[in-house]
Order: sequence, then C-alpha cells, then structure tokens
Amino acid sequence: MANCVHCNKNGIDWFSKLWGDSSAPAQCHKCNEFSHIPVSVFTKIRLYNFIVMVSLLFCSYYFVTLIPVGAYIIYHIGIYTYVVRTTDMVGISKVEASENKKKSYLFLIASAVIAILLYISIDLIK
Ligand SMILES: [Zn+2]
Repeated sequence: MANCVHCNKNGIDWFSKLWGDSSAPAQCHKCNEFSHIPVSVFTKIRLYNFIVMVSLLFCSYYFVTLIPVGAYIIYHIGIYTYVVRTTDMVGISKVEASENKKKSYLFLIASAVIAILLYISIDLIK
C-alpha cells in the first residue's frame, strides 16, 4: 500500500498507483480522494526505456541472441517497481480527472483525424 497525499494514511494499493494517471487517478481506500504519479515521472521513464530498448535491440540483432530482450523485460519490471515504490503521488480532484479524461479523448480523436488525413494525402500523391 502507498501513502495518500490527502489523509496521509496507507490507503492506495500498488496496482492502482502504477496504473493510475491524471485522467484515471488512484482512489484512496481510507478517504476516497484521488491522486496519481506525476506525469513528468512517466515521461522520463518512457525516454529512458526508449534508449535502453533501442540499444538492447541493436545488441540482440548484432550478437544474434535473445538475452538482451530478456534483460529488457527484467529492467522494465524493475524500473516500474522502483518508481511505484519511491515516487510521491500528487493529489487531484474528481472534476480535474474527468477534465483530463476529456482532453485525452480529444487528443485521441485529433490523432486519428491526422492519421486518416495523412493516409488520404499519400493516396492522392500516387
Ligand atoms: Zn486518503
């Protein structure tokens, strides 16, 4: 269990802490308030993961072995466990969370529209 920023009690389970984000925050079992791991933390992890993944894939290809792939899976589990255990969460209200959810849907729709437009434009060039 993780500490809640609202009531300071052990009210958040590790699983919700790991999977929660600013649009779907983890809920505290003691006070029912919401919180999540800061977005910047996950941005950093994704950047590191990308660098590690590319270098391990290169090693895997170069030495013709799957050991780096196994190493990546272990690294991945390790870094997430470490971050979930050590990072402090930030509080968020239910209203803010649903606003973030709307924004993430808008972002998804915008990405889909851009992808379709690109697909159409490629077709027009041919
Ligand atoms: Zn709480």
